[in-house]
Amino acid sequence: MSAKLLVIGIDAATWTVIDKNIDSLPTFKKLKKEAKNKALILDQKPYSAPCWTSMFTGLKEEEHKHHEFVVDNILQTREDINANFIWDILTRRKKKVKALNIPFIVPPYNFNIDFKVPGAGVGTTTKEWNGEIKEVTKKSVEILRKEDLDLFIVCYTILDKIQHLHWGEEIVLEYYKKIDSAIRELTPHGEKLIIISDHGFCSFGEARVQTLPRKTKTGKELKGDHHEEAILITKGINTNINNLRDVFKAIKNEFRN
Ligand SMILES: [Zn+2]
Repeated sequence: MSAKLLVIGIDAATWTVIDKNIDSLPTFKKLKKEAKNKALILDQKPYSAPCWTSMFTGLKEEEHKHHEFVVDNILQTREDINANFIWDILTRRKKKVKALNIPFIVPPYNFNIDFKVPGAGVGTTTKEWNGEIKEVTKKSVEILRKEDLDLFIVCYTILDKIQHLHWGEEIVLEYYKKIDSAIRELTPHGEKLIIISDHGFCSFGEARVQTLPRKTKTGKELKGDHHEEAILITKGINTNINNLRDVFKAIKNEFRN
C-alpha cells in the first residue's frame, strides 16, 4: 500500500540549516544524493497562509485573496477561501486523495481525514512540537500502510514557530533531526515524491520582509524571520517547479490521464 505521489510540506525548512548540518541529517543527505533538489526562490511575499494556498491552488496571492490566518480578529476557515485546491479538483476526477495538517488555516486543514493536531499548528511548547511530529507521522504511516492512494499530502508546521523563537540556537537542529526521522518513515510509502517548504528562514535583521513584530505579545524577542528561499526536493516529477504555484501544476500534470 502506498501513494502514487507523496507530498511532504515542511513549513519554514531552509537549506542554510540543512546544508550546514547535513551529516546529522541522514535522510536529507540521502535525498540530496538520490533526488533532484534546489532552492526555490519565491516570487511572492513569504507569508505562510498565502504561500501554502498558492502552492495547492496554483493561484497568486492576489487571485486567491487569502492573506492572513486572522482577519478582523476572526480565524479564517476553508470556506473563506474562494478557490479550488488540488485535492478538490482531483477528487472530482475520481482520484483517491487525502491531505493531513495543511497549514494555510489555523488549525491546519485536513481533507478526507479526521485528525486533531497537538498545538493546533501554532504550538509554543516542546510538548506540542513533539506531539505534532509524533501524531502527524503516526497518522500518515497508518493511512499509507492501509490504503492505496493517488495523492497524499502531509505537512509539519513546527519549524516556523521554533525558528522564530530560537533561530541560531541548538534546539533548531534538534527539531530538524526529528523532521529528518519523520521523513525517513514516510518516504518509502510514496512512488513519486515532492518535499517542499513554503519559505525559508534567516535571522530577524536579515529578512527583507518582516512577518511579525520584533517582540511577541508576552514580550519575548523574536530571533528569526521568513526568507524568500524555500527548499524543494523531487523524485519522479517531470514538471519544472520554479515557484510555489508550479507545485499545483506539477501535481495536476502527474494525474493528467
Ligand atoms: Zn511558513
